[in-house]
Amino acid sequence: MLNLKDPGLLRQACYIDGHWVAADSGEHFPVTDPADGRVIASVPRAGAAETERAIAAAEKALPAWRACTAAERARILRRWYELMLAHQDDLALIMTAEQGKPLAEAKGEIAYAAAYLEWFAEEAKRAYGDVIPSPFADRRIVVTKEPVGVCAAITPWNFPSAMITRKAGPALAAGCTMILKPAEQTPLSALALAELAERAGVPAGVFSVVTGNARAIGGVLTASPVVRKLTFTGSTEVGRLLMQQCAPTIKKLSLELGGNAPFIVFDDADLDAAVAGAMASKYRNAGQTCVCSNRFLVQEGVYQAFADKLATAVAALKVGKGTEEGVTQGPLIDEAAIAKVESLVADAVGKGAQVASGGSRHALGGTWFQPTVLTDVTPDMAVAKEEIFGPVAPLFRFRTEEEAVAMANDTEFGLAAYFYSRDIGRVWRVSGQLEYGMVGINTGLISTEVAPFGGVKNSGLGREGSHHGLDEYMELKYLSMGGL
Ligand code: ADP
Repeated sequence: MLNLKDPGLLRQACYIDGHWVAADSGEHFPVTDPADGRVIASVPRAGAAETERAIAAAEKALPAWRACTAAERARILRRWYELMLAHQDDLALIMTAEQGKPLAEAKGEIAYAAAYLEWFAEEAKRAYGDVIPSPFADRRIVVTKEPVGVCAAITPWNFPSAMITRKAGPALAAGCTMILKPAEQTPLSALALAELAERAGVPAGVFSVVTGNARAIGGVLTASPVVRKLTFTGSTEVGRLLMQQCAPTIKKLSLELGGNAPFIVFDDADLDAAVAGAMASKYRNAGQTCVCSNRFLVQEGVYQAFADKLATAVAALKVGKGTEEGVTQGPLIDEAAIAKVESLVADAVGKGAQVASGGSRHALGGTWFQPTVLTDVTPDMAVAKEEIFGPVAPLFRFRTEEEAVAMANDTEFGLAAYFYSRDIGRVWRVSGQLEYGMVGINTGLISTEVAPFGGVKNSGLGREGSHHGLDEYMELKYLSMGGL
């Protein structure tokens, strides 16, 4: 079906304790291509019992894995990274087939995903502690860092590979073991990563992947006293539920949840640069990323010029199947996603928004939506509050800097924000006032493994990437050494 150079990467079994296994029930569920609905493969519909076994395996594997030196773990992670790059084309093909994004974007994601393994392999060697000057003459105070222990990860479909390595990379580098439940829509990328982990020499039980019933698997992972940490990327709604489920066992949590990113264009911005940034931040992955710009706030003096330039750039996007040459906009993940986008556009237009480009389903049918620009958008429209997760740019108008900052912060979310300005004073003022975990200033792309990714408010807890990302998988231990 998929024309892979290495067909061994297309795994259709769970990977538990170093074994490729079916569900106890023998049941499967299909994985489909969002471009045409065809079934690409099927994976086990596992549940509670299989998850219990994966947790037991992770617990059993923990002592030996954490006892390795950081350099030993780093060598294995580095091999995993190299294997990902060696198989970049196949991994990208698997991703495009199950997720829909253009092949060039999928290849980019594989390189980006692999970079987290490389980064954390290196970073774990530098997990320094502290020696604190003691207030007592007969005591020394030392702080060491230790792995948290067994970790669970639940990941979404929009970045089927990178959302896994930015969790598994730091966890394994720190000396933790991990059980992963990937999204139902994109389990094949996760299983291909497990195949490469096995080839790289990750020991049995250190990294397991359980596909299947989200509630059953999530229920066991969150309830288990053996699992000391849950790391989740997905919707705020599910994140909140999982946080509740983790409360009885007081687990450590990292939550990367929803966003409602503002993209502010001030009168003094370089408009062409702002349009380029807007295109990158809005239409990547057909608008299906949690850091995609959700609200364009444009100052009145440049409003029409920005709208015209953006509509022109949007008209040049090529919509089609991710595997076709030159395509920049793939299909949305499923019918529910396109129905939501459609209803948000209808709501805005019904309340007076104008369609400057696109505005409806694409002639290709399926789950393709036309890349869209809406003007005269106002805060009473649903697009002001809700995450669009599709290729629609709503343009709001503002007059003053204070008004822009107030509009930008008027949301329950606080993940990413962007703004364009050439005024150095304004750059510092606005950066300080935005209630967001990440701010792109004169850029629409902010993700890199070297920087801390994460949000405030209802966008979540914790950071992924950078040296801070490693700390999320380590506990501090304070040693008070007396009797000297
Ligand atoms: P999205 O809207 O991006 O699909 P979700 O939050 O629904 O976001 O899904 C993100 C991940 O959370 C997926 O792996 C999904 O299977 C999982 N998930 C959804 N509901 C639950 C649940 N009740 N318990 C555990 N995992 C869940």
